[in-house]
Amino acid sequence: MNCDEARILLHALIDGELDASHAREVEAHIATCPACGAELAAYRELHEKIASADLRVARICVGIGGVGDGGDRSCCHRAA
Ligand SMILES: [Zn+2]
Repeated sequence: MNCDEARILLHALIDGELDASHAREVEAHIATCPACGAELAAYRELHEKIASADLRVARICVGIGGVGDGGDRSCCHRAA
C-alpha cells in the first residue's frame, strides 16, 4: 500500500467502514509512515469535532422545537 491508497482509506477506517483486512493494511502502512500517521491523527481530531458539533446542533434543535414557532427544524429530522 502506498500513501495515496492509505489516505483514501483513512476516512473509511475512522468511520469504521473498512473490513478487517483493509483496516490491517492501513494500520500496517501507518505504523511505517509517520506522514500518514499524522494524517490519521488529524482526520480523527476533525471527526471528533464534527461528532461533538452534531450533538450540539441536536440539543439546540430540541430547544427550538419546544417553542413551537414553526422554525426550520430540518436538522432535527436528520438527527432523529
Ligand atoms: Zn504513507
